[in-house]
Amino acid sequence: MLNIRYEKTTNPKPLPEKDNPLKFGTIFTDHMFAMNYEEGKGWFDPRVVPYQKISLEPSAMVFHYGQEMFEGLKAYKTDDGRTLLFRPNKNIERANRTNRRICIPEIDEEDFLQAIKAVVKMDEAWIPTKPGTSLYIRPFIIATDEFLGVRPSSTYLFMIILSPVGAYYPEGLNPVKIWIEDEYVRAVRGGIGEAKTGGNYVASLAAQMKAHEEGYSQVLWLDGVERKYIEEVGAMNIFFKINGTVVTPKLNGSILPGVTRDSVINLCKHWGLSVEERRISVDELLEAAKDGSLEEVWGTGTAAVISPVGHLRFEDTVLQIKDGGIGEISQKLYDTVTGIQLGRIEDPFGWTVE
Ligand code: PMP
Repeated sequence: MLNIRYEKTTNPKPLPEKDNPLKFGTIFTDHMFAMNYEEGKGWFDPRVVPYQKISLEPSAMVFHYGQEMFEGLKAYKTDDGRTLLFRPNKNIERANRTNRRICIPEIDEEDFLQAIKAVVKMDEAWIPTKPGTSLYIRPFIIATDEFLGVRPSSTYLFMIILSPVGAYYPEGLNPVKIWIEDEYVRAVRGGIGEAKTGGNYVASLAAQMKAHEEGYSQVLWLDGVERKYIEEVGAMNIFFKINGTVVTPKLNGSILPGVTRDSVINLCKHWGLSVEERRISVDELLEAAKDGSLEEVWGTGTAAVISPVGHLRFEDTVLQIKDGGIGEISQKLYDTVTGIQLGRIEDPFGWTVE
């Protein structure tokens, strides 16, 4: 149990206007959580303080060797004014898996949840309530030793910042166009692909730029060895419905294990659909598209929840899925997951935490 110190802002910012559409990740609330780590001392000085700049020496290790991790989850306001977190323990478990992979000291799971709750409660008034909006929660840890040389840092800073975010697709679900990347790769097995660390995202930028130039919004990654098997999309996991069966790439060490992915697998099974977690090659996908058995494609992630995929492009082949529209399962998953997140429908799995 953390003994959290509180320092309230004396200079609160105006809350975003209710009618203004919130852009993702642009506005930050009045407070943040912070806690330090020193070898021998452990995590110390947990605090909720005014959102502010931090000061680091140019030699801070995070700037040079990228020893940093982050997480992303959301808080929602229910119609009766309660605040719900969606499966925060899954994010916390994943955070510690990332920590272990990149040699950052773990944080006690209960302390982690306490920290999230403390800062969200402080800035509860910032949780937007319009349909599709929520409070995005960004916990992260950076290596702060003032040192040049490759080794794990012996000091760290853990912080949680909050950002009210709008509907990812203000007009409702909107099919996205996806570029299957065959030149660059994101991650390899044994690397850091299954960890949520900045290195994976910087590795994705060049392909992301290329896809944007071609008019595609996200990159679908292939495996880093054979460049044959489908892995995941930019910041989403990927699902296909082929001949009535829901198929998603099996977690293989280079794919981020998404919380939404796990929720979607559970829901589909709960509905009696057959779900396969297995390898799926780009050839199988092209074949299924050609013979008409590819019925639906969607991405899953915290930001957009469910993103129907309308087009896929691989080299010179453009596949249009479902006339580029929204599939039945995609819509049902979106309605159900967001319904549970907002406390509007029964939560058969006990996923929300007040
Ligand atoms: N893959 C990657 C690379 C991601 O960054 C994310 C977003 N965290 C996801 C998948 C989806 O994960 P989640 O459902 O936990 O948001």
